[in-house]
Amino acid sequence: MRIITMALAAAFLATAAEARELALSFDDAPRRGTALMPGPDRASRLLVGLERAGVTQAVFFANSNRADDEGLARLRAYAAAGHLIANHSATHPHLRDMAPEAYLADIAAADRVLRSLPGFRPWFRFPFLDEGDTPAKRDAVRAGLAAMGYAQGYVTIDTYDWYIDHIANEAAARGDALNMEALGALYVEAIVASANFYDGVAAAHLGRSPRHVLLLHENDLAAMFIPQLAAALQADGWRIVSADAAYADPIA
Ligand SMILES: [Zn+2]
Repeated sequence: MRIITMALAAAFLATAAEARELALSFDDAPRRGTALMPGPDRASRLLVGLERAGVTQAVFFANSNRADDEGLARLRAYAAAGHLIANHSATHPHLRDMAPEAYLADIAAADRVLRSLPGFRPWFRFPFLDEGDTPAKRDAVRAGLAAMGYAQGYVTIDTYDWYIDHIANEAAARGDALNMEALGALYVEAIVASANFYDGVAAAHLGRSPRHVLLLHENDLAAMFIPQLAAALQADGWRIVSADAAYADPIA
């Protein structure tokens, strides 16, 4: 009996482990160069890192106002490698600071630049994950997005990767020596902990583990540490799936 129970428990754990899936998403592409690396270097390192990690389809939520000729070339390079491009607005505004009409016009401006790119998906991610300060505003923008044929590029796992990247770049700009090994370990540990935390929240509310969407940014830490992050997630029982697969989860 005890052996049977243990076998059942092992089978359950294996099922649970298989169910932990996430896709990678990178916001704010194509970001400017920093103290740590120029933008084009970041893109090429990120592409190599994704390939090494076996990530065949991540999604880049782009801001069209960042997309000058070099930035557009970067988005095309991501798409050529099999990744997706989606809409993160033209100017990265806060909805709480704007009327819905102006906000939707900003999304439409980004759509005009991004839609013709290969790998484009009509998914919109709210800058700052800010869906507005009133239900009326939220509903007006949701209706406008639906009228444009857009789905929500929601996230299920939020992280502070942007803050770690920010303080690392501040230190680099000051000329401080950075302990890259410790920085990478912090980045990886913080994101894996976030993934596990939000999976717990999701499982408590849904009774299952959905196909998650992990929020990252097109930043220097991603360019440097994606293979380590992917390895740590896999070691923790996660499987990295395509963005298309994640956004096909019933919660979408
Ligand atoms: Zn953003």
